[in-house]
Amino acid sequence: MIKVTRQTDPELAALVDEELVRQEHNIEMIASESTAPLAVMELSGSVFTNKTLEGYPGRRFQAGSEVADKVEELAWKRAKELFGAEHVNIQSYSGSTANYSVFASVLEPGDKILSMRLDQGGHLTHGSPANWVSKIYNHVFYGVDKETELIDYDELERIAKEEKPKMIIAGASSYPRLIDYERIAKVAEEVGAYFMVDMAHIAGLVAAKVIPSPIPYADFVTSSTTKTFCSARSGMVFCKEKYAKILDKGTFPGCLGSLMFNTMAAKTWSFKYAASQEFHDIMAQVVVNAKCLAEELQKYGFRIVSGGTDNHLLVVDLREKGITGKTFQNALDAVGITVNKNMIPFDPEKPGVTSGVRIGLTSVSQRGLKEPEIREIAAIMNQVAQAPEDEENLKACKAKAEALISRFPLYPAGSFDD
Ligand SMILES: *Cc1c(COP(=O)(O)O)cnc(C)c1O
Repeated sequence: MIKVTRQTDPELAALVDEELVRQEHNIEMIASESTAPLAVMELSGSVFTNKTLEGYPGRRFQAGSEVADKVEELAWKRAKELFGAEHVNIQSYSGSTANYSVFASVLEPGDKILSMRLDQGGHLTHGSPANWVSKIYNHVFYGVDKETELIDYDELERIAKEEKPKMIIAGASSYPRLIDYERIAKVAEEVGAYFMVDMAHIAGLVAAKVIPSPIPYADFVTSSTTKTFCSARSGMVFCKEKYAKILDKGTFPGCLGSLMFNTMAAKTWSFKYAASQEFHDIMAQVVVNAKCLAEELQKYGFRIVSGGTDNHLLVVDLREKGITGKTFQNALDAVGITVNKNMIPFDPEKPGVTSGVRIGLTSVSQRGLKEPEIREIAAIMNQVAQAPEDEENLKACKAKAEALISRFPLYPAGSFDD
């Protein structure tokens, strides 16, 4: 797939090869990652890269758009069918810009947004002081209950009634449980707020119908298309028909420039693939594997935030093991298991250290790992946690991890032979 690069830039080609080897040999458990199918790679590099397009099918600013129009219309049809949505806009470049396009569509500077606390799972674009969005809007936050570690819906409702936000956002980057969209939608309706769900992490599980969909309840549903959706690095937004015009205008020209039509083509393929039995079975196994890992780690004495998981990820509280998220992340990395350190709710540690790690099951499930292998991974993780700085221990764990993952190729053999 990189034949020409190999001839013209061997230095760079060697780095691509090195990354393929790294991915092949690692047990990839970053919750936001997945493996792009080969068709997504092909289409991301297709001739649609060459086409400059602005606007929408039938209303483009550039000539020569008749073929692209057919692609975007096909994507609309597939996406709406797949998610049961009234309207879709697939022009966003990523999950972040998908959020920006909704804000640009319906909010005015100074408007108030109620979203999930960032240190309990919310996303940068939902109101982090480090993100430009926080300079434009006012932000108030809800969080999880200290005991159950589930979203505190009563608190959410109380804050919403007090603060009267213009928009309520649900959706998170490290929340392992289902979200009661119906309940939040009711609150939003009562206080006259738009209800936006950011399903960036869970869109694949929603598409496969293995967890409930926010689409019937929310005014706007935004998403990244990587993560569990396993497609190109891009974004998408769904909305009710009554907001279709305002969303499209807010997206272009409101927020974006010319389209990345190559990734739009890749997403179009994924809207078909996500309706397949194969994709459904992978997503169902993702959830089974996540539950399995949570249970196994509990048996080894790890505390799982909220007591388990309903989706593709879990957050592990390492305090009882006497190690920090940073230490565990680094030790697992040395062993070839890739996770990221993560704040647990009410974390006493700094964000750079943390008391937890977040673990995602998408990539390993795509590779075909099932419960027996997940149990092996839990055992390796436990062995790492027992002596995370002991080189001999880490060496022994690395050998086990490599032997395990080498049985499950990342891509079919020969996929990248030029
Ligand atoms: C990852 C993520 C995003 C951003 O998506 P990108 O494609 O990385 O821009 C937005 N919201 C949530 C909840 C996320 O987890």
